[in-house]
Amino acid sequence: MSDRYARLVNAPGVAQIAKQVGLPQPVKLDRRRPSGPVVSGRVLSGAAPGGRLDRPLKAALDSIGPERAGAEGPAKALVFDASGISDSTELVELQRFFYPAVGRLERNGRVIVLGTPPAEAGSIRAATAQRALEGFTRSLGKEVGGRGATAQLVLASKGGEDQLESTLRFLLSPRSAYVSGQVIRIGKGVAQLPKIDWERPLEGKTALVTGASRGIGAAIAETLAADGASVVGLDIPQAAEELGRVTAEIDGDAIELDITVPEAPGRIAERFADGIDVVVHNAGVTLDRTIAKMPEERWSKLMEINLSSEERINDALLDAKLLRPNGRIVGVSSMAGIAGNNGQTNYAASKAGVIGMVEAMAPELAKIGATINAVAPGFIETKMTAAMPIGPREAGRRMSSLSQGGLPVDVAETIAWFASPASTGVNGNVVRVCGQNLLGA
Ligand code: NAD
Repeated sequence: MSDRYARLVNAPGVAQIAKQVGLPQPVKLDRRRPSGPVVSGRVLSGAAPGGRLDRPLKAALDSIGPERAGAEGPAKALVFDASGISDSTELVELQRFFYPAVGRLERNGRVIVLGTPPAEAGSIRAATAQRALEGFTRSLGKEVGGRGATAQLVLASKGGEDQLESTLRFLLSPRSAYVSGQVIRIGKGVAQLPKIDWERPLEGKTALVTGASRGIGAAIAETLAADGASVVGLDIPQAAEELGRVTAEIDGDAIELDITVPEAPGRIAERFADGIDVVVHNAGVTLDRTIAKMPEERWSKLMEINLSSEERINDALLDAKLLRPNGRIVGVSSMAGIAGNNGQTNYAASKAGVIGMVEAMAPELAKIGATINAVAPGFIETKMTAAMPIGPREAGRRMSSLSQGGLPVDVAETIAWFASPASTGVNGNVVRVCGQNLLGA
């Protein structure tokens, strides 16, 4: 789990040589500190003329409260409202803002470009220009990644203007350390925006996290608890001891249950008979083999754990109307579900299925004032990835804009943003937590 390469190329004496020969030198990423500011520096914002998001952006930044950068000096974040760009000739506004600004961006900085979903842009020319923002932002992510900085495109639908704050808070803060090159869509909001304590947004909420005994699931349980949630961790009976340790530390509860057994959906519904706010389907396995060597039991065992049981649990909770108002379902997909992977037809099918589930359920959940989203982790430093052979492991780490693997907490923080009651406009998104990995990008 330790990244020896990163330590070596940044060591005194070696760093200079590594730079000269062009080796990637991963920057240590800032991560959330208790009670730390959202942005530990100044924010420089700008807008193309005629933008519709200028005012809501200012309002969100006023509420978040970072100091604004002036004409000179370092900036921790660059935020540009590009929604006013309605023709390809106006894309030069991006060059005009970023050309003088990007050199001012600090280490671990943040770039956010705001736009309008192309389908809602109003004309063919405007849709073309808004779509162009994606290529711009993804390239900028690659240009600033060497500084440990990230870049995202946020597309706000008409009616979603007042939903920006929870997403800006996440993207501007160290919580989004390993999220880069993403396109995030913000809609109208499925529920009334509640008054929120940004330090503990999940206070009073109940969350279920499957596969919570270790790895990413344990980090999700800890992060949701730190945000104020009462967490119920679930894992197979064989993991009872580890699960008990995780839940005891966060004052949570444990359910020892295999999610694939026929009685699982009923038992979960029974446990949450009073309702549930957040469901995180994290439990998952890999059972790799090329399709030519894949016995049916191996295929089906994985599909049951990674996808079919999630569908049945969702149905049981929704049929009994147990998902509370402003409820959340969060799936854990994978980069392999987007890009495919040799020897992972079963895994990639299950993880692409998670994306399908998100896309298909989002409009249905919106009708009941709830949302569904998924994370798609890339190379995350866990026991699973530590056991990989050195070649693929090093490739997995370095083939990203940030030249390093992510941590379980990076996935957990992204899930906490989805789970926040303030993220009512974030529905139907699949956000990669992959440091802008080249695979499937
Ligand atoms: P992990 O193996 O450390 O943890 C998975 C947990 O799920 C384990 O605690 C396991 O006991 C539990 N689980 C397995 N089958 C279960 C069942 N039938 N019922 C209940 N619990 C069950 O894996 P991880 O690396 O922490 O991965 C967590 C999730 O993230 C998985 O869905 C995985 O596919 C996904 N993911 C991980 C990575 C990565 O780099 N580690 C990358 C992409 C996606």
